[in-house]
Amino acid sequence: NVILAIESSCDETSASICIDGKVMNNVIATQEIHSKYGGVVPELASRAHQQAIGPVVKEAMATAHVEMSDLTAIAFTQGPGLLGALLVGGAFAKSMSLALGIPLIGVHHMKAHILAHFIEKPKPKFPFLCLTVSGGHTQIVRVDDYLDMTVLGQTTDDAVGEAFDKCAKLMGLPYPGGPLVDKLAKEGNENAFTFNETSMPGLDYSFSGIKTGFMNFLNKEKMKNANFVEEHKQDLCASIQRHLIDMLLSKLAMAVKQEGVSQVAIAGGVSANSGLRTKLEQLAVEKGWEVFIPQFQYCTDNAGMIGMTAHYQWLAGDTAQLTASPMPRMKF
Ligand code: ATP
Ligand code: MG
Ligand code: FE
Repeated sequence: NVILAIESSCDETSASICIDGKVMNNVIATQEIHSKYGGVVPELASRAHQQAIGPVVKEAMATAHVEMSDLTAIAFTQGPGLLGALLVGGAFAKSMSLALGIPLIGVHHMKAHILAHFIEKPKPKFPFLCLTVSGGHTQIVRVDDYLDMTVLGQTTDDAVGEAFDKCAKLMGLPYPGGPLVDKLAKEGNENAFTFNETSMPGLDYSFSGIKTGFMNFLNKEKMKNANFVEEHKQDLCASIQRHLIDMLLSKLAMAVKQEGVSQVAIAGGVSANSGLRTKLEQLAVEKGWEVFIPQFQYCTDNAGMIGMTAHYQWLAGDTAQLTASPMPRMKF
């Protein structure tokens, strides 16, 4: 089968060709427009998707040497995500499906983040646990098969990517701040500062408490020294990153113990974080886990993962109707 996959759930417009389960390419147009607003502006995202989707699809088809007549299915991100953004990819996919008379496949964005692990080797074996960490989600998922996943724990408020971005914003860094915090943290002392955090019972997370703790700490220090943030940026970044990573990994370790599964994967935009990668690898050696970390381009939003997931849905006969509507809060 030759699947054209489209991703448009947030601020990346992406297209990919997947042939018989092999991802041939992964064309991504990142929307720059949001950085000056300090966050994704839904209306601008929809408009930017409309502008980018034609060229992005064309490039994916051209570089994979695929013609319209070669396509056997069209896959799109059905949810979760921004309604207006999802509508653009969905409408594009439906028109192509209708025009070419080929099946439509609606893909769950978060499941796709997890199945990104099957694009390249080494691939995890079932069952494994996946810590899914992105701008909108923080979940510990037990994966028993390609399409058989169970959420064991998740955030009850902010996502960890959101916490990275909000703390970055408090330090005056532009959006998205996560990658900048990562970069500055490399030059700082992670034990320089400690902030108040709230913890949740079981395998659930809460990240709004630590964000408030960080904000209160900054406000208190700024009263004493107006230049505090400027003078301690690296240490602040390293310290907040240490808090966030420790929170993530302590629950992950609990989940591993509870499930008796020792293969552990990470997925989603925050899995690009170098501190998280390093600490996860250290923990793996210590605890005897086998760890899987996707290539950088498959960590953040991309259509390669949508194509990969669509391939398994195709094999399972899971296709969508032309009436399928975008689901901003699509259930897992
Ligand atoms: P979702 O997948 O939940 O719908 P999303 O698509 O916005 O949300 P992704 O694109 O997967 O999320 O990830 C974006 C998030 O990852 C942002 O919050 C960004 O700051 C964060 N991020 C990316 N790189 C890093 C990094 N190196 N360190 C920390 N955070 C990072
Ligand atoms: Mg994004
Ligand atoms: Fe995502």
